[in-house]
Amino acid sequence: MTDSKTKIFGIIGHPIRHSLSPVMYNVVFKEKNLNNVYIAFDVDKKNLKRSIEGAKALNFCGLNVTIPHKISVIKYLDRINGEAKLINAVNTIKFICKNNDDENERMAIGYNTDGIGAIKAIEKNLNERTAGKKIFIFGAGGAARAIIFFASINNADVLMYNRTKEKAVLMQKEIKEKLNKEIKVVKKITLKDELKDSDIIINATSLGMFPDVDKSVINENNISCIPKGKVVMDIVYNPIETKFLKFAKKRNCKVIDGVDMLVYQGAEALKIWLNIEVDENLINIMKNVVVKVLKG
Ligand code: NAP
Repeated sequence: MTDSKTKIFGIIGHPIRHSLSPVMYNVVFKEKNLNNVYIAFDVDKKNLKRSIEGAKALNFCGLNVTIPHKISVIKYLDRINGEAKLINAVNTIKFICKNNDDENERMAIGYNTDGIGAIKAIEKNLNERTAGKKIFIFGAGGAARAIIFFASINNADVLMYNRTKEKAVLMQKEIKEKLNKEIKVVKKITLKDELKDSDIIINATSLGMFPDVDKSVINENNISCIPKGKVVMDIVYNPIETKFLKFAKKRNCKVIDGVDMLVYQGAEALKIWLNIEVDENLINIMKNVVVKVLKG
């Protein structure tokens, strides 16, 4: 039940119909007995600015931001946290009072929890740090970018491959300029050898996502490119077991699905908004509700 004291959280994106965030966060609010609510808002490009102004005026406490607004929302925020600034994308906004005397004067601070969410998902599954590991990432889109930046900040040794090589090269330059770190852009011809040398392989492209579930970054004829016994993660969470993860299982790899990243990036947003520790019990509750919806 909501009342006049209910704190409002939500997600803005377009389209937003299939978002799993409302079930994932509302189950936490219920479990923790918090008078909070989380709602999905379909906001198109022309309404983005007004949606941030409106959220401030209505005393919203937090928003997640998804496709296509993660970059464009930045110009409407009052402050951007350091990592989000480096990544140049925001997926979480916290609204705080500008000063203690006036509840109704709010400012919006932008964060990015995608990169840390992916790395946490890996570290929790492996029970070890990723610093110093060789991480191979397919993709150079928004999600890949957050993971590549965060993994580099976290001192992993990053290699990347993208269909459009120019985008990968630009990101390589940007990482050098902003972080003074080297990442390697892999050529198609050396893909197999570089994969063999990597500790962790991540699909951060949209390949394999519903409804194109038969697609994969490695196709069926080249399944031997997936080195045996490595750690393989897919950030696509619908379906939970992508074609790529099926291939990785055939190669006896340890697989991590996209639901884990979704839940850990959500847990980081909860820490930012509510200043709470999200323990493994809560993580499992979030995971179970997401899996239930995806399987239903
Ligand atoms: P995006 O910015 O649109 O980037 C898409 C990436 O996929 C690009 O690198 C693109 O390569 C590549 N790609 C697309 N179609 C391809 C094809 N046919 N062949 C080869 N490469 C192809 O998307 P995004 O925001 O990064 O999201 C990527 C996926 O991650 C989505 O499925 C999304 O749902 C998922 N995601 C999951 C989480 C989570 O918490 N688990 C969080 C964020 C995103 P080009 O550069 O060559 O176009």
